[in-house]
Amino acid sequence: MIIAIDFVFLPDYYFTQSYTQLMNALGRHILVEFYNCSPELMNDVVHIENSMVAAAETAGATVINSTFHHFSPYGVSGVVVIQESHLAIHTWPEFGYAAVDLFTCGDSVDPWVSYNYLKDAFEASHGSAMECRRGQLDLLKRNDFNLESLRDVSPQPQEKLGTITRDVWFTERDENIALSLKHTGNQLYKKDSPYQRVEVYETLAYGNLLTLDGMVMCTQKDEYVYHEMITHVPMFSNPKAKRALVIGGGDGGTVRELLRYEQLEEVTLVEIDELVIEACKLHLPETAVAFDNPRLNLLVEDGIKYIKECADERYDLIIVDSADPVGPGEGLFTAEFYQEVYRCLTKDGIMITQSESPRFNSAVFVEIYDTYKQIFGAEKVHCYLAAIPTYPTGTWSFSYSSKGEAHPLTFDVNGAAAFSKAQGLKYYNEDIHMAAFALPNFVKELLNAKPGQVTNEYSAEPTA
Ligand code: SAM
Repeated sequence: MIIAIDFVFLPDYYFTQSYTQLMNALGRHILVEFYNCSPELMNDVVHIENSMVAAAETAGATVINSTFHHFSPYGVSGVVVIQESHLAIHTWPEFGYAAVDLFTCGDSVDPWVSYNYLKDAFEASHGSAMECRRGQLDLLKRNDFNLESLRDVSPQPQEKLGTITRDVWFTERDENIALSLKHTGNQLYKKDSPYQRVEVYETLAYGNLLTLDGMVMCTQKDEYVYHEMITHVPMFSNPKAKRALVIGGGDGGTVRELLRYEQLEEVTLVEIDELVIEACKLHLPETAVAFDNPRLNLLVEDGIKYIKECADERYDLIIVDSADPVGPGEGLFTAEFYQEVYRCLTKDGIMITQSESPRFNSAVFVEIYDTYKQIFGAEKVHCYLAAIPTYPTGTWSFSYSSKGEAHPLTFDVNGAAAFSKAQGLKYYNEDIHMAAFALPNFVKELLNAKPGQVTNEYSAEPTA
């Protein structure tokens, strides 16, 4: 048994038996405690996974695969399987503490190299470690049996030399519901803006994924659903629209769709966070493609301030392409804000908002529709749905509120069919335009409910 403790002056210091005595065993197992680590890093699954894989490789180990999971609200667990056994970790960010297991067999790998690598990687002020010999040979009796009979002869998938299967998952977790997406372990973008954390992951199933404060905003593989439905439904039921305003929408998908309409004389995008635009230009280029369009009036400012200072009746269409009602976007879900939107719409203007999921958080859904109705009039407010796989519950809603006589189902059906075909749209067409307004009974019930009336019956998340 070897005990190593970083003393107050923090030099690594430990007693050890001779190497051969040590190696009179099948393996070396170092149980490590790292203290005063950066809580930030202790909650960063990508950093931890990358560090553990690098710590193994630096010590000369051959990495087979890695599996890491991010817990809610915080904490990471994971294991790196190496040819010479494994490295494992569990973190408590709230204590700045990590419990690490370094287990190696054979003499080609020195686990203390991994120890030092991780101590630096986790910015630990000090650590303590205990080394145990596992499988002491003088206590083991070798059974002579035909090893060949154990050999697994089934054909193994040809893995590219040097490739390791890394099993790293991004998880957006709410109270009772979560979505996990496997990614390559490489974080393409991670910056903190004054408003939020902006991150891009390289997922295996959905391409690059944009998250804000850990919430899914859009992925390359399904963003078109959201962006086509939030634009083409209002544009085809308001063909005379000349001026459109988008508040939020910093990924660029909504203005990409709007700029397909030559008749639009002005398309203004007001996004509060320039880092969102930067991240999407770099890693979601198909979504950000319209940022260089000369017809786009791109403003980086707070949409709440912009709408307050905007002239009356300036826009035919105002799309509120916000994130969830938290952080900088909270103010985009208030009656004051919607009242201002109403003022800035022309007589026949339309307001479209992403209105959350009736299933995910019914209470918010009921509240915002109640507010729309108070401002636009109950008969002028409509809800439509779309299936977005990477959004919580997969069912998302949009609100359609008209200041004038525009009605979502009064639209040029043939025009929509031809446009969808000509533009190569992947979700929107004349049938889905109509079908999206065919609502299930529970949604109709929620739309007629008053705030506070909602039971937990429909909501995936707690309503109270
Ligand atoms: N499709 C996404 C969803 O449903 O969650 C939303 C996409 S878009 C990325 C949301 C954008 O709204 C973000 O880029 C965020 O920075 C922006 N935003 C939040 N609050 C804002 C505000 N007050 N003014 C302008 N933009 C804002």
